[in-house]
Amino acid sequence: MPHPAAGHLHSIPREIDDRELSKYVRFDPDSGQITVLDQRMLLIHGFTLAALRRELIERLGVEATRELFTRLGYQQGMEDARRLNAAEGGDLKRTFAYGPRLREMQGFVRNQAVDQIQFNQETGDFWGDYYWESSWEADIHRAQFGVSGAPACWMMVGYATGFTTALMGRPILWREVECVAMGHARCRVVGQPLEECDDAEAHLSFLQVEDFIATPRRRATRPARATGQEEAARQLPDLIGASNSFNEVAYLIKRVAPTDATVLLTGESGVGKERFSKALHALGPRAERPFISINCAAIPHDLVEAELFGVEKGAFTGATVSRPGRFERASGGTLFLDEISSLPLHAQGKLLRMLQEGELERVGDTQVRPIDVRIIAATNRDLRSEVEAGRFREDLFFRLNVFPVKIPPLRERREDIPLLVDTFVKRYATRFGKNIAGLSRNASEKLWAYDWPGNIRELENIIERAVILAENDGSIDVEHLFSGGEEVPLTLPSPIPADARSEAPLRPGAEIPIQHAIDRLLDAQLSLEEAEGLMITTALRRTEGNLSAAARLLKLRRGQLQYRVDKRGAEGSEGR
Ligand SMILES: [Zn+2]
Repeated sequence: MPHPAAGHLHSIPREIDDRELSKYVRFDPDSGQITVLDQRMLLIHGFTLAALRRELIERLGVEATRELFTRLGYQQGMEDARRLNAAEGGDLKRTFAYGPRLREMQGFVRNQAVDQIQFNQETGDFWGDYYWESSWEADIHRAQFGVSGAPACWMMVGYATGFTTALMGRPILWREVECVAMGHARCRVVGQPLEECDDAEAHLSFLQVEDFIATPRRRATRPARATGQEEAARQLPDLIGASNSFNEVAYLIKRVAPTDATVLLTGESGVGKERFSKALHALGPRAERPFISINCAAIPHDLVEAELFGVEKGAFTGATVSRPGRFERASGGTLFLDEISSLPLHAQGKLLRMLQEGELERVGDTQVRPIDVRIIAATNRDLRSEVEAGRFREDLFFRLNVFPVKIPPLRERREDIPLLVDTFVKRYATRFGKNIAGLSRNASEKLWAYDWPGNIRELENIIERAVILAENDGSIDVEHLFSGGEEVPLTLPSPIPADARSEAPLRPGAEIPIQHAIDRLLDAQLSLEEAEGLMITTALRRTEGNLSAAARLLKLRRGQLQYRVDKRGAEGSEGR
């Protein structure tokens, strides 16, 4: 099966020096630790993992277990690739050559190339074709379940996909075309870019939160569910992730959706709180009823009560007609209160009373109306400190904090970036009628290294802009990505940060060493004043223009920051 574009692809070296690779493996019984590429490893009994796999299949079903194992493999592969490539100084040929051997050293399989891996990171082309012999997963699957109708090397396929996706910076999918578990003499896998796979959806389901929508679909047969499901499906394309932190959120959302519990979504701006809330609504029993949202920060303080609770004619000057508020419009459904911390104190009091009593009064009305609304609230501030500062009612906080879900920022789930980029590139290429070949190597590296203060929303905006700017039939390069003038991605020394995900979660941005950042700024010949300007604009962007919050980030008083912003504005140096 030679690849049509094989001519301009790099081939990996055939000869592997195991001594070179084995230096990354350390046995240190005195400390009770085995490490591979500085990650703690466990020499676990194969039959134990086999028993766990079997029990999961019995309890969760084959599909859910397949998704889980594929995802676990994806994470392992991605982590190994990033660490190995960093250790090899960014030499992709060597990293690709060592990858299959590393898996052999871990005891999972014996690789035999039909076609060695060939790749070109500039064009995104990739091709690989391997036999897998004595695959651990195929052997135990066949022993436990007999010959099956589908391939069974889930964790292994996930590993290969994660490994190559990390190195190529775009989704590379490995598919099993033959498997010992299906009765073949040996397993065989081919790897190629996602968009070249005709049946990609089926293989990619483990990365989308397929189970997220599949659960209610399997359970519910009522046709009335269809609208809710369509809505969920519409929201879900962006809810993609193979990272642990993302899947924890997906798990919590699925668990709480069928209940009526109040949910409090927290997380930075742009992490997708509204999308998660719509998915939550669509997966729950109120799916066919309205989903109404209100951004408490976007409505003037003196109008917010009328907007939320409705108003009776003559209640105040200008109230010439009676109209229902968002609560009444959400009746039977879900009300999403975004930026809840911006709700003024008097409205907080009224909201609390209403939640306690289950009935509301319109502004200027004496009539009491029963309400039946599920509440989802969201905030990008820490509500506890808002309570301490006297800006948020403690009793309302406890009323809302029934089921808190923290959505991680994008920089803490970087392994999802290639998947999200792929989704957004497809979306905007279709929308603008363009053919985009992919991302250049440099562009992928910048996306890895960037800190993503604006999270997924920022990523989507950047990709939309890049698709517009890129040549038709061309690929996306760095200048297309960070063309707004406001971004200065700090590139890491190696293509992939070696310590980007250690055992302990890193402080946001901590993976970029300060000294390196400073070197970069100097290399870019930035003046001290420009560097200050960048810090200020970045702080303002992170806090969505909230001057007080930005001042706290910069360890300035609000007035000091105001002065600097005004001064810069007057000089026209911050023309955003
Ligand atoms: Zn197999």
